[in-house]
Amino acid sequence: MVRVSRVLPGSICDEMGVVAGTELLSVNGRPLADFLDWEFLTADDELVIEARLPGGEEIVYELERPEGEPLGVELEPPNVRRCANKCEFCFIEGLPEGLRKPLYMRDDDYRLSFAYGNFATLSNLKERDFARILEYRLSPLYVSVHATPHEARKVLLNNPRVPDIVAQLRRLAEGGIQFHCQMVVVPGMNDGEVLEQSLADLWAFGDSVLSVALVPVGVTQFSHLYDGRPMDVENATRILDAVERWEARALASRDDRWVFGSDELYLLSGRPLPGAAHYGDFAQIENGVGAVASLRERVREGLDTLPRLDGRRIGVVTGVSMAALMPELLEQLRERTGALFEMLPMENSLFGPTTTTAGLLVGADIRRALEGRHDLDLALIPAETINDDGLFLDDERFVAVRESLPMPVHPSYDFVDVLALEGEPHLSGHAA
Ligand code: SF4
Repeated sequence: MVRVSRVLPGSICDEMGVVAGTELLSVNGRPLADFLDWEFLTADDELVIEARLPGGEEIVYELERPEGEPLGVELEPPNVRRCANKCEFCFIEGLPEGLRKPLYMRDDDYRLSFAYGNFATLSNLKERDFARILEYRLSPLYVSVHATPHEARKVLLNNPRVPDIVAQLRRLAEGGIQFHCQMVVVPGMNDGEVLEQSLADLWAFGDSVLSVALVPVGVTQFSHLYDGRPMDVENATRILDAVERWEARALASRDDRWVFGSDELYLLSGRPLPGAAHYGDFAQIENGVGAVASLRERVREGLDTLPRLDGRRIGVVTGVSMAALMPELLEQLRERTGALFEMLPMENSLFGPTTTTAGLLVGADIRRALEGRHDLDLALIPAETINDDGLFLDDERFVAVRESLPMPVHPSYDFVDVLALEGEPHLSGHAA
């Protein structure tokens, strides 16, 4: 059963009398377990839908859907599958105590992997899940591989019952499923030989493995399980060497880079970050692979849309890891707009100094950066720091933080998104 959360006005379901709270029980005789069943089973044009209205009345709708017309319902979010692993390096293990509950939830859900690109380890897949992935052709899936040698993977995932990922991928690949894979590389655990073996195993899948991202382990000051070495210049350089070796092979034989190092690896190693063309369609940008190149590209493309803002003083709050890259971008913005930009790189007060990502800054950091700065006309903060409910990771409300500060504060993804509107008189000087 899946429950309707919203019916779009004028849609087929609206005309049928479906209302929010209606339970959708089956489609063409097949019971509905979740949004995937609904999406795939309603792909037919002739539908018999069994439902239960909020008052308890059971009803059967028979309909012929005009080709391509959506049924017009939104469903309540599914119960997310929990992770059965206990990786020593899990970011959630590194969270401080006392944050809001959902932040501690470890999801490991192949359905979200298909629908939203969340990475899943596939270690909790049951026979029924395999059958659904193959029947519905849930492809591509985003898979946290971490290591292909079975023993190494058991240690990394801290789960002796973890299945053999090579056998799992093979079974799915034989059914036509493709994968974007990631390996979180932990020095001493899955670098060196394990990394080489894993890349060789994934390479052997041919076109079924679309890309592999190598991401360095992240350790906060609260990580208590992982006592290994953090990623350093030497390790990052060695991993990028492996990326380049496999990349050369992939370019030669499949005209595709196939393996990518995350931006953080380049920043850690001191190697220059590749340009946008390196990343193709940015398949793993949510994993921090090519995010800087994409930002540079968006700034370059958006410069012409920006108004003159001569003499305006604009503060730009960012994480420590972006401090080296920001001056070049701010200089381009200064040249184009005439505004005076000041970069404000902040240490993360919640996770500690080893967490340098801009998107993980918290409300307290934003306050610290901007309070008392009456000299600024405007401030930009990383939009990724705020969730859909308007909250920072430390539970501070964006609206409250903004109101406590002496200048208009705008969340921004790429500077251009906010600055392009600043020339419009009715928006100038107002907070988002
Ligand atoms: S798979 Fe590991 S890193 Fe991912 S959520 Fe589970 S414990 Fe954390």
